Amino acid sequence: MDEFALITRFFQRPPRSARVAVGIGDDAALIDPGPGRLAVTTDTLVAGVHFLADAEGYDVGYKALAVNLSDLAAMGARPCYFLLNLAVPVVDEAWLEGFSRGLWALADPLAIDLIGGDTVRGPLSITITAIGELPADGGLRRDGAHVGDHIYVTGYVGDAALGFYSRSGRITLPEALRAGVCERLNRPAPRVAEGLALQGIASAAIDISDGLVADLNHVLVASGVGADIDLRRLPLSAAYDRCFPMLGFDPALTFGDDYELCFTLPPDRLPAVHRLMPHFSCGVQHIGDVTTVPGLRLHGDRGLYEPARGGFNHFDG
Ligand code: ADP
Ligand code: MG
Repeated sequence: MDEFALITRFFQRPPRSARVAVGIGDDAALIDPGPGRLAVTTDTLVAGVHFLADAEGYDVGYKALAVNLSDLAAMGARPCYFLLNLAVPVVDEAWLEGFSRGLWALADPLAIDLIGGDTVRGPLSITITAIGELPADGGLRRDGAHVGDHIYVTGYVGDAALGFYSRSGRITLPEALRAGVCERLNRPAPRVAEGLALQGIASAAIDISDGLVADLNHVLVASGVGADIDLRRLPLSAAYDRCFPMLGFDPALTFGDDYELCFTLPPDRLPAVHRLMPHFSCGVQHIGDVTTVPGLRLHGDRGLYEPARGGFNHFDG
């Protein structure tokens, strides 16, 4: 199968949005812009770094799009279009079929259009560029947190770490819990609806890709503030509760790959969030507050808690 047959078979679909004047098949896509602002983001997944070289195509396709949609969600944007740059060592039709099914599983319910990309031979790697829409002047930035704001996290943190540890045999969970945490690692649900709902309400937001501590710290530094977090409020799943005696807080704080949203909220907007919560697909937990004193302080049962390491950083050490 040549490059063009591959694109036609797995990736070319009639665009859903009337704004896509030209999608896949020409030298560039043509988009009629709407009113407001665009949010544009890109993320690369490399085999052996971001996923195991023998990972299921479906999971890789799903996650490659999910991590990009998570970034758009953290900006409060509505995802609309994406581009796919694919490097594959060989044309493995079964793998590509799974990969494209994983992509569409996420893209179709959100009616997002794949509008172009590039296909090359090379070590397996996937780069997706996702484009979303925002109202004029919209966008949930990292630098908007103010002293006195409450800090929230969606869903649960730490389950992706459990998925990773259960795969490597470091922990053993009953089958139902094991399947749940592997799902969270391989097919994280980007918090698109939650990000959209928080647009215009949250004062700052970020998605948790490198761990709560590292990502919340980005918000604090960008905003020129500090925070006190109450670890007893950390949203941990039933699976995590089971592993807590062995793992403690660290995986939930520093492993990353959770793709939850961490956001700050002026206290007077609390009623707005309570009104929105029934529309959320996950819980929302108040974990602490923004302070004037710079830095991030984690309060546990026995006073201040210091995790063993920071968040995930590709160039550490
Ligand atoms: P060009 O050589 O003009 O850059 P290509 O031959 O690379 O164009 O691609 C042909 C068309 O297919 C373009 O519209 C491009 O955006 C699209 N395309 C290529 N690879 C992919 C892919 N992996 N997913 C989606 N669209 C793709
Ligand atoms: Mg090209």
